Amino acid sequence: MFDVAELMERSEEPPQQRSSGESSQRRSAGSTRRPAIWADVPEAQWNDWRWQLSHRLNSLEELSQIIHLTDEEVAGCRSPHFRVDITPYFASLIDPDDPHCPIRRQVIPTGKELMPFNGMVADSLNEDGHSPVPGLVHRYPDRVLMLVTTQCASYCRYCTRSRIVGDPAAQFSRSDYDRQIDYIARTPQVRDVLLSGGDPLILPPRVLEDLLRRLRAIEHVEIIRIGSRVPVFLPQRITPDLTEMLRRYHPLWMNLHFNHAKELTPEVAVALARLADAGIPLGAQTVLLAGINDSVAVMKELVHKLVRHRVRPYYLYQCDLVEGAGHFRTTVSKGIEIIEGLRGHTSGYAIPTYVVDAPGGGGKIPVMPQYLISQAPGKVVLRNFEGFITTYDEPNDYTGHTAARPEAARPRHDLDSEGVHGLLAGVATFIKPEGFDQRHARPGEVRWEPPPAVPAAAPDGNGHQRERG
Ligand SMILES: *Cc1c(COP(=O)(O)O)cnc(C)c1O
Repeated sequence: MFDVAELMERSEEPPQQRSSGESSQRRSAGSTRRPAIWADVPEAQWNDWRWQLSHRLNSLEELSQIIHLTDEEVAGCRSPHFRVDITPYFASLIDPDDPHCPIRRQVIPTGKELMPFNGMVADSLNEDGHSPVPGLVHRYPDRVLMLVTTQCASYCRYCTRSRIVGDPAAQFSRSDYDRQIDYIARTPQVRDVLLSGGDPLILPPRVLEDLLRRLRAIEHVEIIRIGSRVPVFLPQRITPDLTEMLRRYHPLWMNLHFNHAKELTPEVAVALARLADAGIPLGAQTVLLAGINDSVAVMKELVHKLVRHRVRPYYLYQCDLVEGAGHFRTTVSKGIEIIEGLRGHTSGYAIPTYVVDAPGGGGKIPVMPQYLISQAPGKVVLRNFEGFITTYDEPNDYTGHTAARPEAARPRHDLDSEGVHGLLAGVATFIKPEGFDQRHARPGEVRWEPPPAVPAAAPDGNGHQRERG
């Protein structure tokens, strides 16, 4: 566990060991790892989140003062795919001499951003198609994603929402918030509201608190979650005042975005300790990025550091097929290899669920190595992480929980019987794509008619037809 005061002191430590040569000389100018251009900024200002936000770097001229930009980066900075902004704090973590620096690759554009690729779309998750009101994505039965701002502390070059994020003209207004909250209030199945954006922690404190208060006033909203990268880009923002405010809206969970162990600096450790001490369960989302964290060793170091700071790795995302992100993509097999390298080798708490967020709006689909090798009635064959192969004998008299309590077999809610689980529950016998019947009704053929017990197909709103058996 980290003591906040102790960490504050540790954040005053001299710079980390740097590569030799000019860069380490430049860095010896200040008492921290700060590049020379900020050497004279007083501590109080450097540690003030407002100063950090108002001194963000966004031009080629500014960036070239602290980084030896490559030709490719110069091209990227001249015509970036979307907005560039980097807090001085985050920029100070960049290795000015290493073009492969994992911090640098996340925020400095390169010319590759403009390269189209197979499968590329602007809204790869079809979020706009699942929005009943602007900025509210209702993709899953019992929870919604509420986009509350388009602004972030800094901009990740692989951003999945670069179609809206960073554009100062595309802001959410008070009346957008009203419509979002109104939708949630009149949709009782929504028990979980996930605030995202943009970054909700970038909102003026009073606006954020007002949203939290209004959501908390809705009885069926059981939990509120905030998705944020502010603790990584702008740890100074996690002030005692902010955590005091947040803790008044429990149960409040937070999902943070970390991609590399280098992001877990002493400043970030202070921010995480404050959030965890405020009783906020912390999760981490990581995007699998080529050249940044696409190795078992890099990922293992990251997840170990996260749990050390009381952050539970939650999702590891396959990079979305979004404009600007083509060169960050890995194969899916790389993600499976990483999970193979973690599961069993380290604490289960340190292992995220690897997901492909399905193009077209299918939602998050978990992918993992195959552990179930074979099966026959009464027996399954499994393998563990070491390659040990074993069997599990299944009971031959198992009738299920519901045999003794048939009432428990009934779905409590219409939504409980949706999808593939509905097939298992016996609510439906098949799921077929739209247009399936027409396609198979060939001229001259006698059309197959379903048995009378099966009522006609009804669209279920997901572009699929579902029939009840
Ligand atoms: C990721 C996501 C959620 C939350 O999913 P969980 O698996 O519950 O974390 C909700 N809505 C949308 C649109 C999402 O993309």
